[in-house]
Amino acid sequence: MDSPMESSSRDAQKVDVLIGGAGFAGLALAIALHQGLAPSFSVTVADPALAGPAKDGRASAIVAAARRLFETIGVWQEVEAQPILDMVVTDSRLADVVRPAFLSFDGDVEPGEPFAHMIENGPLLAALAAKAKAEGVALRPAAVTEIEFATDRTQVRLSNGEALAARLLVAADGARSAIRERAGIASHGWSYGQSAIVTTVAHERDHHGRAEEHFLPAGPFAILPLTRDPAVGHRSSIVWTEEAQAAARIVALPEAEFHAELERRFGLHLGEIAAVGPRRVLPLGLSVARAFIADRLALVGDAAHVIHPIAGQGLNMGLKDVAALAEVIVDAVRLGLDPGSLAVLERYQRWRRFDTMAMGIATDGLNRLFSNQSDVLRLVRDVGLGLVDRLPILKRLFIREAAGLVGEVPKLLRGEAL
Ligand SMILES: Cc1cc2nc3c(=O)[nH]c(=O)nc-3n(C[C@H](O)[C@H](O)[C@H](O)COP(=O)(O)OP(=O)(O)OC[C@H]3O[C@@H](n4cnc5c(N)ncnc54)[C@H](O)[C@@H]3O)c2cc1C
Repeated sequence: MDSPMESSSRDAQKVDVLIGGAGFAGLALAIALHQGLAPSFSVTVADPALAGPAKDGRASAIVAAARRLFETIGVWQEVEAQPILDMVVTDSRLADVVRPAFLSFDGDVEPGEPFAHMIENGPLLAALAAKAKAEGVALRPAAVTEIEFATDRTQVRLSNGEALAARLLVAADGARSAIRERAGIASHGWSYGQSAIVTTVAHERDHHGRAEEHFLPAGPFAILPLTRDPAVGHRSSIVWTEEAQAAARIVALPEAEFHAELERRFGLHLGEIAAVGPRRVLPLGLSVARAFIADRLALVGDAAHVIHPIAGQGLNMGLKDVAALAEVIVDAVRLGLDPGSLAVLERYQRWRRFDTMAMGIATDGLNRLFSNQSDVLRLVRDVGLGLVDRLPILKRLFIREAAGLVGEVPKLLRGEAL
């Protein structure tokens, strides 16, 4: 007798690519593929979150390469972004009255192009969904619930009962990817025992586009500039790392006590401060999928890798996956190759997996080096940071690396259409 999936597969709608997950990675990939290959190539995105407006109240640093991708696919023009004009890094203890800057970055990666911008996640996700819809990408407000891998197509059932048969299924369904799990791809990594407290802080004085990262013993405390909001004035987003239990305690404090803890870390250099956004606490860990591909399946974004936010690179790495996978698929389809075949997908995996491991190891090392009380390690890291600060060539390389412009950069991240 036929399995339910087998009997429904006969009436399944055939699509070229089905993307499970309409976060940044899923939507950006859908738009890029559609722009590169429509009308003879069909792209569908499924995510229950598509049923309503984007709810993500967080903000993200978008590096220059990722900004080029958004500009090339036509969404950057739709969002307000705050350029990061300079960045200071300090290595301090909570009680330190003065926090001397050990490292400072400023300047552009190219004339007039800052190395990063801050955006608010909600408006960027809304702009991506609107662009995908306007381009004619098929959007389904439903979850991927059942998957059956076959040689010619992946059979998928959505939570609204719809059956689809895709030449390629893309898992863009985030850190706890159900698609990755169903495909039997294990993920390796560990928890840091740390959590990040995330909120928005209003302050009296202008930040002048300056980002700050204070390496405190419990972990990094980042102040990231946002555009001015007429209702609350000057604002910054904070990512405040603490040991997990301390973070849970702090985030639950009454207003006045939370304010006191915040002020000890934020300081008063921007005048009086007030937390104005909802407080969120997010557990931090490192995980990398054992494989980024299988027959008729590719993983992108957090579904493939989650790293520590110490360098604000998680989403930027996901967008590198998107740019590389879009280029691999567009090249293959134009050559008449099957975009879901292992031979084609291997090129994507080779392109992204090593780079991901390198970034995972780098952010893990940085976190271990900085999130501790050891005086010896403090001396080592301060000498290291001081050296980088005094060597303009090394500093320039760091900025280009952080901006995502080093190595084999995919076309979309160079600002070239597919
Ligand atoms: C505190 C913190 C600060 C950060 N700051 C930065 C930063 O400054 N810069 C940066 O680059 N990165 C940053 N990151 C990382 C960044 O937030 C993530 O890497 C990014 O959001 C991942 O995007 P994604 O599209 O891969 O996944 P997600 O944003 O998790 O999207 C996944 C989507 O899949 C959907 N979904 C889930 N299951 C299913 C299913 N079965 N079927 C269909 N859809 C499904 C969900 O509804 C969701 O919409 C930070 C992370 C943290 C924790």
